[in-house]
Amino acid sequence: ITWTKGQGWHSPKVVPYGPLSLDPSAAVLHYGQEIFEGMKAYRHEDGSVWLFRPERNGERFRTSAARMMLPDLPVDLFVQAVRELVTIDARYVPEAAGEHSLYIRPFMIASEAFLGVRAAEEVTFLVIASPVGPYFAEGVKGVDIWVTDKWARAGVGGTGAAKCGGNYAASLIAQYEGYEHGCTQVMFIEAAEKDRVEELGGMNVFLISADGQLVTPALTGTILDGITRDSILAVGEQLGLTPVERRLSAQEFLDGIAEGTFVEAFCCGTAAVISPISGFKSERGEWRLKGQDFATTVRIRDAVLDIQYGRTPDRFDWLQRVV
Ligand code: PMP
Repeated sequence: ITWTKGQGWHSPKVVPYGPLSLDPSAAVLHYGQEIFEGMKAYRHEDGSVWLFRPERNGERFRTSAARMMLPDLPVDLFVQAVRELVTIDARYVPEAAGEHSLYIRPFMIASEAFLGVRAAEEVTFLVIASPVGPYFAEGVKGVDIWVTDKWARAGVGGTGAAKCGGNYAASLIAQYEGYEHGCTQVMFIEAAEKDRVEELGGMNVFLISADGQLVTPALTGTILDGITRDSILAVGEQLGLTPVERRLSAQEFLDGIAEGTFVEAFCCGTAAVISPISGFKSERGEWRLKGQDFATTVRIRDAVLDIQYGRTPDRFDWLQRVV
């Protein structure tokens, strides 16, 4: 779908997957005016195909667009476009067995051709999709996380709450530093605000305390309002945990692990749903979680997946049938 200033959204098209034709001066290629979303379609046992909280993705897309001076796309148009693509591509939604799904990537780019720093007056919204396999093909394993306060992903007043490409480009250097230390993800600490735990490169982070608290950094405008994060807070409460969203300093976070206040940790996002964390590493040392069986983490993970794959009643009314 194209947007042109003065004309609004127009010319919706469905075309076979293939290369895009963009002018070399397209603003997105130079000034990064771009946003995206990540969501999935799930096939249930009876063959039906469902989306999980698609309006939340649509709302977050509007938030991202506003931050990046991109035009507003109404949530119903966003969801309609996603539904249409999933309907056309329904045969590519894998069978219910395992954790297969159809990954959906809606995105909006400044396609106007001009060199200069201003909001584009021609923008393109696109949706692509691809089948994906289970994140943990050989069973759920704990991962190690690299903790950095040397690199910031997005600072106060920045673009952290927007899902824009630049955030990910900015986080790569820290992620690769993490790889060098045997870690699969990096956790960012907001240093300017004196030591506040934020999120991972592409996931939100949670701690489980010995007394049953499910703790995650509060939404501060510098981190992404994860849909998995929000769902886990609700599901966790249903499982008898106490959801807590608050400020966490790196010191409290890591000391709490060392002292056994926090017994499990996990990260979450649409791709992996929930990934248990074995330990954290930084320039200053290493912190291992006590609960290496990830018992509570796996319980939450199964509860979320059971809703997504229709194996349990959808009490929260999160699913939307497409086919
Ligand atoms: N934080 C960041 C930086 C992310 O890229 C993602 C993945 N979209 C998340 C958190 C988790 O968000 P969600 O649960 O909506 O996938």
